Amino acid sequence: MSDEAQLEKLAKQIKVCTKCELHRSRTNAVPGEGPTHAEIMLIGEGPGAREDEQGRPFVGASGNFLDQLLEQAGVTRADVWITNVVKCRPPGNRDPLPDEVKICTSNYLQHQIKIVNPSIIVTLGRFSMSLFFKGAKITQIHGQMRKVEDRFVIAMFHPAAALHQLSLKSTIMADFAKLPELLKEARAELGKSTAKGKAPKKKKK
Ligand code: URA
Repeated sequence: MSDEAQLEKLAKQIKVCTKCELHRSRTNAVPGEGPTHAEIMLIGEGPGAREDEQGRPFVGASGNFLDQLLEQAGVTRADVWITNVVKCRPPGNRDPLPDEVKICTSNYLQHQIKIVNPSIIVTLGRFSMSLFFKGAKITQIHGQMRKVEDRFVIAMFHPAAALHQLSLKSTIMADFAKLPELLKEARAELGKSTAKGKAPKKKKK
């Protein structure tokens, strides 16, 4: 099955998923979207009210802000894969529970990452950050890029945090402003490891 078809199959499973309690209160599950082999994957926390209505990630207020942050970094939304740690809206936008995160990531997000195989993952907020940096504090590692296995992961504050806490707005903007430089660095490093004989990433187009 092609990678595109595998992503499609996962999306279909996500839309009818009943593996955790979050399915009871959702209107639509939000599998995520983007080009099959995007170089960059963004991972948020979970759908909010607008995302639950539309079945698409980051279409509400924090999505508008995310679009601005990406544009400022010279990245278009159409070029990136965007998804969330949990695919159904937690009621009242509460934090996802550990079990919900475990069930949803092991059944869906981990497969999506494997299939898209992005060179760079940008985590938005502490829930997606913790998947890669256990025990890390977002206040300490935001804006930093680290190698995790064969890709780079950049931890960013969640755009909604800036909307709720204006003091964070300039911090998030400054972190995203560094993105072009970090992308250059990551590309150079990954190019080097490929040149050293590491198998190049499989990119079926
Ligand atoms: N916040 C998230 O974490 N994800 C969305 O899709 C929307 C808001």
